[in-house]
Amino acid sequence: MLVVMEAGAAPEQIEAVVRHIEKMGLKAHPIPGAHRTAIGITGHQRGKDPGIVETFPGVKEVIQVSQAYKLVSREAKPDDTIVSVGGVDVGGNGIIVVGGPCAVESLDQSRTIAEQIKLGGGQLFRGGAYKPRTSPYSFQGLGEPGLEILARVREEFDLPIVTEAIDETSLKLIEQYADCIQIGARNMQNFSLLKVAGKSRKPVLLKRGMSATLEELLLSAEYIMSEGNYNVMLCERGVRTFADHTRNTLDLSIVPAIKRITHLPILVDPSHGTGKRNKVLPMSRAAIAVGADGVLVEVHHKPEEALSDGPQAISPEVFEQLVREVDAIARVLGRTLQPALAAS
Ligand code: PEP
Ligand code: MN
Repeated sequence: MLVVMEAGAAPEQIEAVVRHIEKMGLKAHPIPGAHRTAIGITGHQRGKDPGIVETFPGVKEVIQVSQAYKLVSREAKPDDTIVSVGGVDVGGNGIIVVGGPCAVESLDQSRTIAEQIKLGGGQLFRGGAYKPRTSPYSFQGLGEPGLEILARVREEFDLPIVTEAIDETSLKLIEQYADCIQIGARNMQNFSLLKVAGKSRKPVLLKRGMSATLEELLLSAEYIMSEGNYNVMLCERGVRTFADHTRNTLDLSIVPAIKRITHLPILVDPSHGTGKRNKVLPMSRAAIAVGADGVLVEVHHKPEEALSDGPQAISPEVFEQLVREVDAIARVLGRTLQPALAAS
């Protein structure tokens, strides 16, 4: 259920509705918008009728939300959500490029790549300190020392950090060190982890599971938002199909589909989406052309020595070209990299 307040509703009127909903044992989620505030109601409504608030002063209407997902839907919030990741806005009219290695391997490796990301015009730095690997014998990440490296990189290069949490323990540490918690494809439906992320005040980058439908992705985002964290970004990273010329099949058509029904930003990850470095640049161009709010790509200065995902890592030189080209494509659509690329 969604309570739509009048455009000029006073803060006390909004507060009165919220208090009433909470008194009924339900959860109220005020969603301020450009034109009006809406209040999403979640929780078990059996035997309760929050529709009574329709009679409260300042309330325009109470609507039943038809879809299973509520807080993520454009019905709840018609205008695009802009998520601030360490001061970088994701969503709205800007686009961003997130770059970095698959895994944090050493301070030296991370510094070298971060410097190139910064010089190349990237907005955010990524790198895993906790790696969910298919084989237990593969490199699992450096753990907390990896987070310390990321924190140093942020200070030195002024790049906010995105890094993956694989469980509650790593999430709690990431909250202390990083600017954004990534929930990876393998954990997209780890509902207890989503709830913990929902209690965090750090933005969450939620990647699509490798066989998840659009609705399943949105319901996972709903898990996070229903706990009170509204700073959620989605990420398409390819799904598993019969096609074997790429590691996964990048489903770019989810971008316009998502844009129709949710206000949340969506990024595209063509690195995991294709698994092949020669496809990362063309699919990045395509991602921006279909309306993604940015791309997330893996970059390595010595990909042949990378401890994970070397075959899909692009070089710093290609990264720089990618940033220039996606910015040019974004401009055709009336968007630009945020912050803008320095003129060269
Ligand atoms: C990653 O971004 O490093 C990663 C493991 O991605 P995914 O969860 O999409 O496989
Ligand atoms: Mn990777």
